Amino acid sequence: MTSIPAASEAPKSHATPAVDKTDFVDLHSHSTASDGAVAPAQVVETAHKAGLAALALTDHDTLGGIPEARATGDRLGVRIIAGVELSVMEGAREWHLLGLHIAQPEKIESALEGFREGRRTRATTIVAKLNELGMPVTIEAVFAEAGGGAVGRPHIARALIAGGWAKDQWEAFDKYLGTGKPANVEKMHLSIADGIRLVHDAGGLAIVAHPGKDGRRERLEPLVALGLDGIEVRHPGHSAEDTKRLAALTEFFDVVPSGGSDWHGAASGARVLGAMHVPGEWLAQQDARLAARKQPGVKTAV
Ligand SMILES: [Zn+2]
Ligand SMILES: [Zn+2]
Repeated sequence: MTSIPAASEAPKSHATPAVDKTDFVDLHSHSTASDGAVAPAQVVETAHKAGLAALALTDHDTLGGIPEARATGDRLGVRIIAGVELSVMEGAREWHLLGLHIAQPEKIESALEGFREGRRTRATTIVAKLNELGMPVTIEAVFAEAGGGAVGRPHIARALIAGGWAKDQWEAFDKYLGTGKPANVEKMHLSIADGIRLVHDAGGLAIVAHPGKDGRRERLEPLVALGLDGIEVRHPGHSAEDTKRLAALTEFFDVVPSGGSDWHGAASGARVLGAMHVPGEWLAQQDARLAARKQPGVKTAV
């Protein structure tokens, strides 16, 4: 059977396998395109094995894994949602922002490239600090750990572990890389307003990732005022109380719920693909919000 490459069709008519509201989905995952341990195709294969009908690949600062994920998803009948995870600032407070359903990657790509360049610069500065502290880690070793993907502190931690300077990721962050530790370097700052605007410009939904205990009415209200579309309700970092409160706030603010495992490739634990049992109904709500945005009379994002 031959199929028409999706790229040759209008953006909306991408051959997306239908997702039933009773199916399960996972709307937060990482691959080797950023700091995940497995390739995009393998993330999708794992989702398929877990019985998921849809998966959002949400690598940090890159959409680089999406084409491979899409190709595998089309083959296996798993709907792939193009996503990205951004680090954004609201004053001195950092939030993670998920851009889901990115329809026009070309509108966000140059900004993402800038963020990746910022990550490389930051990694180089951290390595220089580690060298000063007596650990001859090389930037080449760190980039090799990143495998050409968006480089982050977990990759530096892996290089430290490989060199015998830390026994695990926890120790690497606790001794050197974490906030306030000797080799920590501040991240580039993107305001949450600019982050939301970027996601909207690319046709996506802006969803605050794992707000946890800070996900309270008074904290989220200003984000909703900036155009936030949704709240990540289900996440392995959330307590049962967080999940309950965030679900209620989603209704209160009339934004959409989202959820996912934030999978990075581990074989077990709470962060296993599909572990959050996110219903397809939530994905349907996200689709409906996107559709409503396109209707005349409704404020459009572009
Ligand atoms: Zn995050
Ligand atoms: Zn994540």
